[in-house]
Amino acid sequence: MNFSFYTSAIKERLEKLQEKIEKATQKSGRRADAVTVVAVTKGFGPEIIETLLQQRILHIGENRVQEARIKKEIIGEKGIWHFIGHLQKNKIKLTAHLFDWVDSLDSLEEATLLSQVAKAIGKTLKVLVQVNTSGESTKHGTTPEQAKALCLAINELPGLELLGLMTIAPLLKEPEKARPFFSLLRKLRDQIESNTTLRLPVLSMGMSQDFEVAIEEGATMIRIGTFLLGPRPSPFLKREDPKTFL
Ligand SMILES: *Cc1c(COP(=O)(O)O)cnc(C)c1O
Repeated sequence: MNFSFYTSAIKERLEKLQEKIEKATQKSGRRADAVTVVAVTKGFGPEIIETLLQQRILHIGENRVQEARIKKEIIGEKGIWHFIGHLQKNKIKLTAHLFDWVDSLDSLEEATLLSQVAKAIGKTLKVLVQVNTSGESTKHGTTPEQAKALCLAINELPGLELLGLMTIAPLLKEPEKARPFFSLLRKLRDQIESNTTLRLPVLSMGMSQDFEVAIEEGATMIRIGTFLLGPRPSPFLKREDPKTFL
């Protein structure tokens, strides 16, 4: 298949993203390569993921297990897959098989189940603990108060490698207003590190709307959908034939 149309559009947007990342990392006194881009491809077909991989964007974020499964069947074992959605108990097995990272762990019960599956299939999953920094009831994530205890417990589980924290800021018209939530996550990480022997180098924070502010506040990983790919198409699995795309 010829993906040249997507390739030129995505190349252009990647260049813009890179420029913005460079500016924001300079402000926080870091190098641009200190920030990893996770391309959030939910809603888009596998041809978009192929194009991203060709452009050396290797980290792919999906929030639905079934959707990721269909795409991976088509693409094969390529890329580094991040689960960024809410874990469901009945899909934990599939999650452990399909993904390399789980960026949204927020309960010990689910982490324990995930650990058991990972261990059974001889896999080590990289994981992040999701923290609800805004306190919004619509958002998943552990509370800032419980984050340390959850990190300590998850760190003991085999088959999981705890690497850091993740948060989703509220969607606000002015990205600047999201800054306190990002700085809270960084401070929380610093606190946990100074009170324990845990090392949490990864801070996954910032999306299309607010990634520059997140980087200024210390993000090492940003999750970018629409900025790179444009508006999301209708929910992928609701299409009549999920094997045809766009
Ligand atoms: C959809 C999604 C993103 C990407 O959102 P954009 O605004 O399109 O960049 C990032 N993180 C999570 C958890 C998401 O569900």
